[in-house]
Amino acid sequence: KTWVQCGVSMKILNALKKHGYEKPTPIQAQAIPAIMSGRDLIGIAKTGSGKTIAFLLPMFRHIMDQRPLEESEGPISVIMTPTRELALQITKECKKFSKPLGLRVVCVYGGTGISEQIAELKRGAEIIVCTPGRMIDMLGANSGEFITLGRVASLSLKDIMQICTFDVMRIIDNVRPDRQTVMFSATFPRAMEALARRILSKPLEIQV
Ligand code: AMP
Repeated sequence: KTWVQCGVSMKILNALKKHGYEKPTPIQAQAIPAIMSGRDLIGIAKTGSGKTIAFLLPMFRHIMDQRPLEESEGPISVIMTPTRELALQITKECKKFSKPLGLRVVCVYGGTGISEQIAELKRGAEIIVCTPGRMIDMLGANSGEFITLGRVASLSLKDIMQICTFDVMRIIDNVRPDRQTVMFSATFPRAMEALARRILSKPLEIQV
């Protein structure tokens, strides 16, 4: 399969070529068209197989399809992952495409000062990459203190582990039920199946 056959737009195609992504990896070839069709999805593939781009490209298409965006508060897409390192890595990948598309991404993660991140959020962003703990801090005691998730239409979870389940549920309670949700992971232990059942709706399952 080629990128064009996966349904990516010209602008994204240019960014892919620029960064040397000549053709989709197997998980990308299967997952991208499935996510673009609107389905919830569980994607299981080993580390380094290209899972990040597999959910980023449909996410960008989703945001671009909604343009011009209504003047409204809060991100349209949220990506959640357990650690700061993973969040920064996803953000870096995300910026390769968000910049040429004119979209803003903010990374919200713990272990560092919160005020600069709050200031970034105030400036506005269509996409948030976050770790669960810091996102909960941003929601605050009254939910919506520094961030509102009412506009989120697509939610991507990468390598979310059992220990995150409680926090993840608290965050998802703030997101509209008709959102699209995708989960990507290298393994899919029993404990994650329970979470998947709660947050995904009739998911497709792709394992490569
Ligand atoms: P990931 O599994 O998402 O962490 O990606 C692993 C690495 O593969 C990252 O460094 C990506 O930049 C790279 N990568 C992802 N998709 C492709 C692709 N289609 N062609 C070449 N490299 C890719």
